[in-house]
Amino acid sequence: MSNIRFQALQSVANAEEKKISGYGEKRITAIFGTNVFSGRTIREYLSDEAYKSLMNSAKNGSRVDRRMADQVAAGMKAWAEERGVTHFTHWFQPLTGTTAEKHDSFFTIKSDGTAIELFDGDALIQQEPDASSFPNGGIRATFEARGYTAWDPSSPAFIMESGSGKTLCIPTIFIAYNGESLDYKAPLLKSIAALDKAAVDVCHFFDKNVSKVTATLGWEQEYFVIDEALANARPDLMMCGRTLLGHGPAKGQQLEDHYFGSIPERVYAFMQDFEQESYKLGIPLRTRHNEVAPSQFECAPIFEECNIAVDHNTLLMDVMNKVAKRHKLKALLHEKPFAGVNGSGKHNNWSLATDTGVNLLSPGKTPRTNLMFLTFFVNAIKAVHDYDDLLRGAIASANNDHRLGANEAPPAIISVYIGKYLSDVLDEVESRVKEKFTEQDEVILKLDIHKQIPELLMDNTDRNRTSPFAFTGNKFEFRAVGSSANCASPMVVLNTIMAETLKQFKKDVDALVEKGDKKEIAVLQVLRDYITKSKKIRFEGDNYSAEWAEEAERRGLNNFKTTPEALDAFVTEKGKQVFYDNGIYSKRELEARHEIMLEDYVKKVQIEARLLGYLATNHVLPAAINYQNTLVENVRGLKEIGLDKKSYKAQLHLIEVISGHIQNVNDNVEAMLETRKRANEIADYHKRALKYCHEVKPYFDKIRYHADKLELVVDDKLWPLPKYRELLFMR
Ligand code: ADP
Ligand code: MG
Repeated sequence: MSNIRFQALQSVANAEEKKISGYGEKRITAIFGTNVFSGRTIREYLSDEAYKSLMNSAKNGSRVDRRMADQVAAGMKAWAEERGVTHFTHWFQPLTGTTAEKHDSFFTIKSDGTAIELFDGDALIQQEPDASSFPNGGIRATFEARGYTAWDPSSPAFIMESGSGKTLCIPTIFIAYNGESLDYKAPLLKSIAALDKAAVDVCHFFDKNVSKVTATLGWEQEYFVIDEALANARPDLMMCGRTLLGHGPAKGQQLEDHYFGSIPERVYAFMQDFEQESYKLGIPLRTRHNEVAPSQFECAPIFEECNIAVDHNTLLMDVMNKVAKRHKLKALLHEKPFAGVNGSGKHNNWSLATDTGVNLLSPGKTPRTNLMFLTFFVNAIKAVHDYDDLLRGAIASANNDHRLGANEAPPAIISVYIGKYLSDVLDEVESRVKEKFTEQDEVILKLDIHKQIPELLMDNTDRNRTSPFAFTGNKFEFRAVGSSANCASPMVVLNTIMAETLKQFKKDVDALVEKGDKKEIAVLQVLRDYITKSKKIRFEGDNYSAEWAEEAERRGLNNFKTTPEALDAFVTEKGKQVFYDNGIYSKRELEARHEIMLEDYVKKVQIEARLLGYLATNHVLPAAINYQNTLVENVRGLKEIGLDKKSYKAQLHLIEVISGHIQNVNDNVEAMLETRKRANEIADYHKRALKYCHEVKPYFDKIRYHADKLELVVDDKLWPLPKYRELLFMR
């Protein structure tokens, strides 16, 4: 009788590469955006009036009125029906971390009994899914269970294909009855608006023509791909997305032969397939390659406006999961699916673009535009310095705890890397701008800075791959974001703290100008002040080193090692204030979110603890005992035929070793269970999360240590769980 592991291995051996159609004669541009209601399509299906109204609200976030909404809905319906769509859904991003859809058909029956297909402005603008089934942090308990999804006209509707079914998806925000947000998108849109306003005001110091600033986001998505049958033979991968047990393979990533290596064919077919699906949905994927760890890969699109980029990333994760099934593969988006092997992140490249076509984090062509660059650059550093705890909180999750601070990922300490040249520039501003700074000084300094900045910034050698927040020539790259995260969390924080800092900057400059300083001199004075004040957040060295942790402590930087601690940032007075002042969250919303995130943490650790107990007891121990019985049988036989103890010394020793590990696994599983019970009795969710973090979780490593030792000694034939070498190296 072969166990599920061997059946899975057999199925991998027989797996065939799924042929995919390829692009035929077509170029990517021929399929790009074909399932999206945007661009030329909109023009074709809408009247001039409706088109203008839609474009206007997409740009300014203004409401589309009822009459126009009816027209837009009619256009969307006509377009969708021509493509075989029968249903529509409000597509939203609740705090569960996945996307949600509730499908309704266009089909309806009128009062006189006639059946027709209907999709009007009402259906487009608003729907009512039950808010009580989604995380709401107690918000709905005090009000009503009702929640609304409301159309976001700034993100285009699209058609999702699943088998032969096609659904029209309307991107929406999800809010409670009283208007409090229950999703990722609502606060994101608010943060984008706040940043727009604050950044435009500051732009006007340099250029009156700017009337809109958008945050841009280009994410890089890392993921693992493994065989589906093998994944299905591992309950931990199935239920938690990561392996809770498993000894490292003899060969890991030490040979570094995977990075940028050739992509295995089965995975290549999968990539092409999900890329095609993504192109149809308008996701502008650009890059694909192998990552450092075996079976790890990355893809990245061309950057987009932040809201669209976030939608596209959540869509992509969805598409990847679906398409992987067609190829009998499993895409693992977890931050740390395998112990001892690199984890996966999602680098968030972030910048600001004006409607005049300027990237505000890209050095300018003239001394004047370079001063504008310097302004936004320094303000970004100041923002990270002032609110590093919020950025840390934004990336905190049970999953990411396994990755941050491990030897291949940024530490939990937030710092900013800017490279030698820009460090020199900042030093120069700091040392040369004095209290009595004259117009002549200003001109010379600006010219000097200008000479220092151009071209060199795109230089790839001047990079630091270990920094959690690095300037990379024309954008900042936030690298500590977890691979399964919704990019909105870090983006909301980044946009908000930048808005806050820019608002303060404007006030500070205005104050000096009122006192009689020339505007550009005032700008330089305030920049100098910000450079000095934010110095301690800048770090150019190796973020992975132990020395940095010590140095950071000396500098007084935060180092929140775990999620329950990191999340506190959202409920400090300072944290609540900055979100409140910028119109992102009410204080109550923040408290609700804090509770949701802690609950999520507890649930994740709880599920893992249960599963680990189960695996240890039902998989590991029976295999170990089974093998031990064979050894006992063997010893008995050898004894029987009259051999002396010397001839079965090794067997006796093994029996003892196995007994030791069995005992340890068993004792730790029992102790973990007890601790978990006590943790569950704690009513306060914050204290419960801490208990899970500091008292339940430590058992994971203890149990794993002994279980993995057993994996090394137990007869391979008897081991029920696919091993690391099989998961990571089977093609
Ligand atoms: P790498 O960081 O791997 O060297 P690149 O620097 O080319 O690669 O870009 C990485 C990501 O940064 C890409 O997704 C790209 O679209 C994005 N990006 C480039 N410019 C910007 C920008 N102005 N705003 C946001 N993202 C950007
Ligand atoms: Mg990068």
